[in-house]
Amino acid sequence: MTDVDATQTPIDLVEHPRGAEPGKPGDRSAFSFEITRRLEPTADGLGRDGFRHGRSGVIHTPHGDIQTPAFVPVATQATMKAMLPEQLKELGAQCTLANAFHLFERPGEDILDEAGGLAKFMNWHGPTFTDSGGFQVLSLGAGFKKTLAMDVKGLKSDDVIAEGKERLAFVDEDGVTFKSPLNGDLHRFSAEISMGIQHKIGADIMFAFDELTTLMNTRRYQEESVERTYRWAQRCVAEHKRLTEARLGKPYQALFGVVQGANYEDLRRHAAQQIASLDFDGVGIGGAIEKRLLGNTCAWICDEMPELRPRHVLGIAAVDDIFAGVENGGDTFDCVAPARTARNGAIYTRDGRWNVLRTALKHDFGPLEEGCDCYTCTHYSRAYLHHLLKAREMSGCTLATIHNERFFVRLLDEIRESITGGYFDEYKKETLARFYANGSRG
Ligand SMILES: [Zn+2]
Repeated sequence: MTDVDATQTPIDLVEHPRGAEPGKPGDRSAFSFEITRRLEPTADGLGRDGFRHGRSGVIHTPHGDIQTPAFVPVATQATMKAMLPEQLKELGAQCTLANAFHLFERPGEDILDEAGGLAKFMNWHGPTFTDSGGFQVLSLGAGFKKTLAMDVKGLKSDDVIAEGKERLAFVDEDGVTFKSPLNGDLHRFSAEISMGIQHKIGADIMFAFDELTTLMNTRRYQEESVERTYRWAQRCVAEHKRLTEARLGKPYQALFGVVQGANYEDLRRHAAQQIASLDFDGVGIGGAIEKRLLGNTCAWICDEMPELRPRHVLGIAAVDDIFAGVENGGDTFDCVAPARTARNGAIYTRDGRWNVLRTALKHDFGPLEEGCDCYTCTHYSRAYLHHLLKAREMSGCTLATIHNERFFVRLLDEIRESITGGYFDEYKKETLARFYANGSRG
């Protein structure tokens, strides 16, 4: 691919993961985090030791480094939909996140183990993450919205499920029983089962199995759930250590604990202290958070966490949420929105999100975004994308996804440079003002 922008991150591809030696457990020192610069304080005082929680840094993993803050494209089924892993690398992605639940269902974790792990299986050879499967398992239960920042209007009961959805998952003290959406089979997920699956998938960064609640749940249920998630977290750490010792010759896999607690500051802090007390390599900021509290929630959790544990914000939904997350301590961010919306013609640009299927664009031979360095914008027109997506051609999905993923990868690259360059606040103000100037969503 041509026209590589100066902001694009050089990708460090590792064919032979660091810290993996025949006959030995994975070397934990192959995973670490270093901070390169902290964000200067602001008037509202969120942060620690005279700095905000936001920082730039480097996560070292057995399959290579991740310069943070970083965007983590979602490769649910060990591929990003409509794109080759090579295309993801070429647009500057540093790492990718796959879904343990979907890979457990198909092709099965044994296949990934046999292949030599996720990175090798999908010809990625860079850092990878897997989520624990908890989100998918439990979202089957309530059928709730797949975004972290939620609209809270009208949500109030532990039993509410989305209209027209059958409840497919049930939580008990030991784990979750659920019905497969693929074939209706009954399956069981627990801390130990999730760890077993994730070890076989072999990502560099895994998440502990947690109970995901929604903003629909009552305070009492949230309290019970935080305690249950803590007990599951303890079991995950124990099983992770056992598997690390038992599975010889594999690279070390880092385990992140997940902090729940919905919108409640006291619960979030309590949950963060519990997770901080366990021997995790990092933390996942998870669960339903009301959009206006996203920054605060990250800050409460970071207050309670050792600084040198990297922090992943799970399932971020929008450009302003990413800034709030970065400012308050998030290091990595995954989001399916750029790819999902691309397939429906929604295009992210510096001037907001708009739809390429608009009739007026049928005759527009300019690029999706003037000045964009992505493969799509440097080779194809709006009119062509309009045609391909109208005709439901797969190449339309590919080209739109390349642009949107590049938008988010570049956004996080630029945010990182603004932190190291000391101009984060100016960059944030300008970027948000421009993106939302026309009342854009996303
Ligand atoms: Zn582009």
